[in-house]
Amino acid sequence: MLFGLEDLRVLEVADPVPGPGEVLVRVEAATTCGTDVKTWRRGHPLLGPYPAVFGHETCGVREDTGERVLVGDSVACGACRSCLAGRPQICREPRWVFGGFAERIAAPEAALHAVPDGLDPAAAAMAEPLAAAVHAIARAPDKQVAPDVGVLGGGPMGQMLAALLVAEGRTVTLADRHAERRAQAEETGAMSAERLADHDVVFEAVGRPDAWRAAVQACAPGACVVFVGGCKADSDASFPTRPLHYDELDLRGAFHHAPEEVDRALALLADGAVNWRALAAGPIGLEDLETALASGNDGPARKWVVHPTTK
Ligand SMILES: [Zn+2]
Ligand SMILES: [Zn+2]
Repeated sequence: MLFGLEDLRVLEVADPVPGPGEVLVRVEAATTCGTDVKTWRRGHPLLGPYPAVFGHETCGVREDTGERVLVGDSVACGACRSCLAGRPQICREPRWVFGGFAERIAAPEAALHAVPDGLDPAAAAMAEPLAAAVHAIARAPDKQVAPDVGVLGGGPMGQMLAALLVAEGRTVTLADRHAERRAQAEETGAMSAERLADHDVVFEAVGRPDAWRAAVQACAPGACVVFVGGCKADSDASFPTRPLHYDELDLRGAFHHAPEEVDRALALLADGAVNWRALAAGPIGLEDLETALASGNDGPARKWVVHPTTK
């Protein structure tokens, strides 16, 4: 549980009691992501009051049926303007589901996804961020229109985007200042560079205003930028107006995912379309989670696999 900024404590507490529509899930694997690091370091607007549970990439076994499930991190309301328009990922009143870094989580049944037989729980947990990559690609023009793709940022999200885009048969260049991350992208069949230029689509997967600007500057005429990386709250980004107008650039946000995209991500992992092991570090127990979050994100892109019942 988080008790404040950079204050994570592992406590023995009673099992959560499932409310109406909820089931108890015994967590087999939960993976860390950049959001967890940010949440630990500087809090998060969606986090409950301290002390708060967290962890949103979670796979486990339903205590009632014994089925292995991915615990999705949200349930859309189904009634707001976005939901009615078929865009649940930008639901105005979603219910967020946190608490994967625990032995058990009480989760809404509506948030659960069946895990394909034989898929490793750590891989299934990673279907959550992979679904966001699937969604980001769905926001971009397809391969026929945009065969040459740049990915800015070689963290886990950039690596997942590159892997999926390579699997689609696109020409992919990933840019990152870390040589280890460029090498990881090359393992997936992408090319790598220190900076991008002249692409049909650019996926921004850094989440900083200067990177948003660099993504726009890396566009070919008529290209599209998909902003995948969330910047700090209240950030402003600035863009050169000339290419937006004279080159008719398309700038699009991509946030989160729809439930079908989570199922698609699980199927892609089961098919071996993404080498999730290349991103997995650990496994570690809950006792080592704070050290893992503090270990920084220099070096290769990695997601820590937490096995909550490992001491
Ligand atoms: Zn995440
Ligand atoms: Zn809604």
